[in-house]
Amino acid sequence: MTPTQALMDELHFAMRGMQLHLPKGVAEDLLRARFHNYEPRIGRLRSERYACPKCFLREGEKYPLQPTPGTDEYDLLACPACSNEYVIPFE
Ligand SMILES: [Zn+2]
Repeated sequence: MTPTQALMDELHFAMRGMQLHLPKGVAEDLLRARFHNYEPRIGRLRSERYACPKCFLREGEKYPLQPTPGTDEYDLLACPACSNEYVIPFE
């Protein structure tokens, strides 16, 4: 899968959605810092690995999302840690 703007948009969108349901027990200022520091791509500029926004927000860890079979219209990425799935529409 090639990096696309749709993918980046989806992960940022998911992150914004999760900010509305902040996990309990994590300091609010820490969550805010993670939210602002979230960068979907892991590692090098041309890396094709992407971090789960949910896990990053909750734990500060970057779990690489795994491509799973999608359809003709979208790709699916699943998190190995929390099983959250992200739908990435084709451009
Ligand atoms: Zn996750």
